[in-house]
Amino acid sequence: MKLILFDVDGTLLRCGVQVRDLFTGALTEVFGGHAPVDGFRFAGKTDPQIVLELVRPLGLDDGAILARLPEMREAYRRRLAAGLERDRMELLPGVVPLLERLAERDDVAIGLLTGNWQATAQVKLGRFDLDRFFPFGAFGDDGVDRRQLAPVALDRAAATTGRRFAPADALIIGDSHRDVDCARAAGIPSLAVATGFATPGALARAGADWVYPDLERAAREHPLLAA
Ligand SMILES: [Mg+2]
Repeated sequence: MKLILFDVDGTLLRCGVQVRDLFTGALTEVFGGHAPVDGFRFAGKTDPQIVLELVRPLGLDDGAILARLPEMREAYRRRLAAGLERDRMELLPGVVPLLERLAERDDVAIGLLTGNWQATAQVKLGRFDLDRFFPFGAFGDDGVDRRQLAPVALDRAAATTGRRFAPADALIIGDSHRDVDCARAAGIPSLAVATGFATPGALARAGADWVYPDLERAAREHPLLAA
């Protein structure tokens, strides 16, 4: 039995530029402003980490920012739920057939490992009815540093499936060097897809165990996914 943990943005779907405006709108609502986002790299960071990095320059200390995270999460969730347009999003190649096949297999369990807050991941996934595939996950609610999320995902998998997975029996699938770093820190193998902002070369240099152009190719060629 294997455990497969999926990232969301750049791995299963892309929200496009609209999500940046929804996020910064919530920052302005809650904190009164934010640092410039031109050139800011969101990829692979947890939502709380993004909030900290964009709000610290306003002069607030981390304690003050963290205290208002629940308010920020709710403001962002509300804006996403009302404003995230499916037509401006992209469901990435091979995702639905792969998840459908994995859901039917009794030798794998699948979950999420994403920097999104749980409530906002649900909105994004819900636009393509993908949330039905993921009975558990680790989220931005569980830590500021993505590395904190892998042990949480293993615990949630155990709680949900009744089985404790060794790191070597898990696989983290993501699109950024931070997904790879999170996997390596936990001793979990990583599969990287170049459907986000990172190139295949950068993902290989980050130490990904497998790199594919997209999940469609991974589904055909990766030994566990293609089994
Ligand atoms: Mg991602």
